[in-house]
Amino acid sequence: MNIVEVKNLYKIFGKDTGDVYPLLRQNTSKEKILEETGCVVALNDVNLEIKKGETFVLMGLSGSGKSTFIRCLNRLIEPTKGEILINGNNVTELSSEKLREVRRKTMSMVFQNFGLFPHRTVLTNVEYGLEVAGEEKEVREKKAMESLELVGLKGYEQSFPHELSGGMQQRVGLARALANDPEVLLMDEAFSALDPLIRTQMQDELLDLQEKMHKTIVFITHDLDEALKLGDRIAILGSGGVVRQIGTPEEILNNPADSYVKSFVENVDKTKVIKASTIMKKPLTITIPKDGPNMAVRKLEKAGLSTLFVTDSHRILQGVVRIDDAVLLQKKKQSDIVPIIDTDVSITSPETPVGDLLNAAWENKYPVAVVDDYHRLLGIVDRASILAEVDSDYENVLLSDATPEKVLPENSGGVND
Ligand code: ADP
Ligand code: MG
Repeated sequence: MNIVEVKNLYKIFGKDTGDVYPLLRQNTSKEKILEETGCVVALNDVNLEIKKGETFVLMGLSGSGKSTFIRCLNRLIEPTKGEILINGNNVTELSSEKLREVRRKTMSMVFQNFGLFPHRTVLTNVEYGLEVAGEEKEVREKKAMESLELVGLKGYEQSFPHELSGGMQQRVGLARALANDPEVLLMDEAFSALDPLIRTQMQDELLDLQEKMHKTIVFITHDLDEALKLGDRIAILGSGGVVRQIGTPEEILNNPADSYVKSFVENVDKTKVIKASTIMKKPLTITIPKDGPNMAVRKLEKAGLSTLFVTDSHRILQGVVRIDDAVLLQKKKQSDIVPIIDTDVSITSPETPVGDLLNAAWENKYPVAVVDDYHRLLGIVDRASILAEVDSDYENVLLSDATPEKVLPENSGGVND
């Protein structure tokens, strides 16, 4: 279900904005339009939909129109043309009363520079929105405390913003936005002012929070890595406020829509983004106790493989069986396969980036097993599929005839000379 729908949205700053449309139709550049009309094109025919519960990232270079876009959503900026539907209601047509309601209840914003009141305590900062909305003291204190707890700031209620680090101040900003339980969270470069380490930590925490909250988040950033990490889908905004591509991180990395997007993603290490679950294959398996050596040999011969994975009836991984061992058992007419199950199998979670599996894939005789929290076998990742995803230089090195020890001395330790 779409919670936000944006149709043919334009924002043009300046006086005679009507003069701008014919020029835009002729693909005149933003610079030329400014020169000829004195108007700045901030958003040019933006069309997009944001689904309930997703983290939608709008990413673009500075000046591409990101802040303008997010501010059009709650009409802090008045769109020049186009429609913005929130839950089916056109925001551009709301009465000021209805608009206030949308700003207070439906959407909350988190700002790059935190935007906290310096003379208010953490608690009263977080309460502010509820206070404005006319909530009773008791209720708003309770809600504010809950949302402070959610962002890990319990115990800091009586502190003042200046007593807190940047990361903590932004947590207050986040708590404030969450306090009125909005449907949509608008985050404009919310982590951009933070030190890299704190920033990474905040990103991780937002992902954790989102796993619990399932809010709709519109997150703005100029940082591609941040976009890829946080976004369920990403819209890439080019110069002059034109959307160049909308897609999942993988779609954008694998299939950049044009040269602009391509130049953006060229330097990204895909192995950090693509997950084990994406490249895993269906494993050949047998189930114990019902299957024994005969079944194993039969399946292996049919598939032309030398090993298969063993699970129990709950799909929980038990290990691997090799064809030679299975044949021996078969010859000895033994039906219990457990003694030949090799448990020395590397496992990983479906969320693991492919890059983190490289070593495991080299060091193990079997493919890496992808398992869920209950150790149930979901799939397997073999060397070939990992190599297919790593960038080409590395691929060339790994696929050359030399042994991995020889070509990767710094990782392997024990090299001859
Ligand atoms: P971003 O957030 O991606 O850095 P902005 O949305 O802030 O970009 O700005 C988009 C374009 O609109 C820029 O060229 C900027 O200079 C221009 N702009 C933003 N606000 C105004 C304004 N109030 N008046 C005139 N031009 C503006
Ligand atoms: Mg901005």
